Amino acid sequence: KSVQIRCCVAAGCLSANSQAVKLRLEEAVTAQNLTKKVEVRGVGCMRLCCQGPLVQVERNTKPESLGTLYEKVTPDDAPSIIAAVNGGETTVQQGDLTHPFFTCQMPIVLENSGKIDPERIQSYIAAKGYQALYHVLREMNPNEAVDNITRSGLRGRGGAGYPTGLKWATVAKAKGERKFVICNADEGDPGAFMDRSVLESDPHRVLEGMAIAAYSVGANQGYIYIRAEYPVAINRLQTAIRQAQHLGILGTQIFDSRFDFKIDIRIGAGAYVCGEETALMASIEGKRGTPYPRPPYPAESGLWGYPTLINNVETYANIAPIIRKGAEWFASIGTQKSKGTKVFALAGKIRNTGLIEVPMGTPLKQIVEAMGGGVPNVGVVKAVQTGGPSGGCIPASAFDSPVDYESLTQLGSMMGSGGMIVMDETTNMVDVARFFMEFCMDESCGKCIPCRVGTVQLYKLLTKISEGKASLADLELLEELCDMVKHTSLCGLGQSAPNPVFSTLRYFRDEYLALIKETA
Ligand code: SF4
Repeated sequence: KSVQIRCCVAAGCLSANSQAVKLRLEEAVTAQNLTKKVEVRGVGCMRLCCQGPLVQVERNTKPESLGTLYEKVTPDDAPSIIAAVNGGETTVQQGDLTHPFFTCQMPIVLENSGKIDPERIQSYIAAKGYQALYHVLREMNPNEAVDNITRSGLRGRGGAGYPTGLKWATVAKAKGERKFVICNADEGDPGAFMDRSVLESDPHRVLEGMAIAAYSVGANQGYIYIRAEYPVAINRLQTAIRQAQHLGILGTQIFDSRFDFKIDIRIGAGAYVCGEETALMASIEGKRGTPYPRPPYPAESGLWGYPTLINNVETYANIAPIIRKGAEWFASIGTQKSKGTKVFALAGKIRNTGLIEVPMGTPLKQIVEAMGGGVPNVGVVKAVQTGGPSGGCIPASAFDSPVDYESLTQLGSMMGSGGMIVMDETTNMVDVARFFMEFCMDESCGKCIPCRVGTVQLYKLLTKISEGKASLADLELLEELCDMVKHTSLCGLGQSAPNPVFSTLRYFRDEYLALIKETA
């Protein structure tokens, strides 16, 4: 068909009634006798979530054109949009596809988001889907596949940035009667919705990445561990797995090879700590989801004691393009130590909230000011919080810094999974630290004392400070206790819980002191 009308049916737009918009667009196409010419397609996230529901019109006859983006579309707007497709006029609000929010992006993980129908495997296949898996099974042995990922320089997108190829090679070498691959889709950081969006928009991409990983390390069973709060993503994953099995892309003798691979979904019950890999595996095994000490690492002794590969959604989503376009192509993007792109969820006091995917090394300033459009109502950006509760707050004075693993760590924050919360001059940084500490306190699994008791004491101290009741001795105690919790907690949740306190003390100490001075 010569015209494609894409209507976003990812969670953000769905919650703003986009399903009804899509239905009315289909009705209007029929009513205006355009069914031969126009296709209405439900697609995944179009990225500018704050303006949803979003509808994009593209004409196949004009491939050079960016098309037209309609914003905040209501069901009643549908006839007018269809009339405009047919040469008429419309007053529906139009977006600017030439804005830096779109033009500064480099979609690799999100290359199909907002374009393909996530509920139809044919739509993924038409966009070169499963070509990489086919190529790997036909042309490469497992070592060659691992070598490709190693040469690409891809690092785990779940937060720590561990080299993906090295992890795959360790699992490939590990001895075990069985091996497993796991996709960690337990995205739980406040303000982060990248993985949810990838799964809702392009679920087959994650299945393809997992299948390539399984072949590379010698696994025949995969699990996707996803939080129950993501019903749309779960639904689309279930559909995708069913479709792939039906076409022989998952199951036995995939593409007539000797490779068998099955994927099952495990739904988490909402505990944030289950995003930690050892807790996640305990939960899959049917035990209480609490972390256990490492070593042994999952690569050697993971699920039920067998070698297990765990990567997150975004890491798997990078695999197929690396195979299709080559490791060198991927390694040419980004910085010396951080290759490729990173997807961020832009949220908070910023004009353009939504998803962005930028090359590693993009300056924070470009993300926050040019792409994000700064603070609404002529406000001033004060800081940006990256890395969720484990991360830190970066002040506006450091916005020239590039976004990559090393630079963010140097600034006292971390890449994390990709949440980016912008704060303006009205934000009190002690309250920010207190908010994240409350989150960690609530989510602490209670297994070890430093985290179980330490986060409660830290929260109480931060409350005392923010209420103006604290002394300088309390501030000293806060720093001492942060240090203790960081160094003695069992898992990453406790070890990183003090990070927001450290970073706010580093850059905004005067705000703490101001609250203390008032009562001194
Ligand atoms: Fe549980 Fe916290 Fe200890 Fe981790 S650090 S094991 S979340 S109590």
